[in-house]
Amino acid sequence: MDERTLHTVLRAVTRAERILIVTGAGLSADSGLPTYRGLGGLYNGLTEEGLPIEAALSGPTLRRDPALCWKYLAELGRACRRAAPNAAHHAIAELQRRKPGCWVLTQNIDGFHRRAGSPVERLIEIHGDLEPLRCQGCGAPGGDWDALLDAPLPPRCGVCGDVIRPPVVLFEERLPEAALETLYREMQVGFELAISIGTTASFPYIVEPVLQVERAGGLTVEINPGVTALSGQVDIRMEGRALDIMSQLLGHTLSD
Ligand SMILES: [Zn+2]
Repeated sequence: MDERTLHTVLRAVTRAERILIVTGAGLSADSGLPTYRGLGGLYNGLTEEGLPIEAALSGPTLRRDPALCWKYLAELGRACRRAAPNAAHHAIAELQRRKPGCWVLTQNIDGFHRRAGSPVERLIEIHGDLEPLRCQGCGAPGGDWDALLDAPLPPRCGVCGDVIRPPVVLFEERLPEAALETLYREMQVGFELAISIGTTASFPYIVEPVLQVERAGGLTVEINPGVTALSGQVDIRMEGRALDIMSQLLGHTLSD
């Protein structure tokens, strides 16, 4: 990455008060976390049952065949428990501590932003989270992942017998209303700087907040090793891994 680009972004991060950081799978991939399609036991994105992983991890499959859906939910849960937040998650959390107007909008369900110390009141987990586990029928607490992963799947509620599930947004399910409301409210307040990190930007609710900052005259930055739907529209593209660039960027910013 050239020094001038780094310097420009550094200056923007230092000056801005309202900053929107948008994160996707690429950020957690640097923690060794597989994406949906990289889960164990898949071949070309298909489960051994011959389903696309998006179908196995969907709301309709959870209702129709909870054992099948849970087989892959458990894979996700195990993968997240093996991995941990990386330096980029920690750098983002530190930036949020220093900048009370800095928000994180994430597609990731691994909870790594919270584990790294990002304040929950400025964290929008638009695809939900793996915790807390609850009964989908009566809402009773569903215990913890460790106990669940040792027991037969799908996990069942001790009160009513319905299936336990995490508050994650499965494929074909609606986005959490509270998260959307928070996102729209903060977009209305506006941001001076948007940084999209490790997301392929394939969802409108990920692309639109960044473009809105662009239209309002703010600075937009993308950090990604590859080209995405946003690449042609942002002011600055930083090509590379989230972990490398974020550590470099925020390492500088936070050292003053
Ligand atoms: Zn129940």
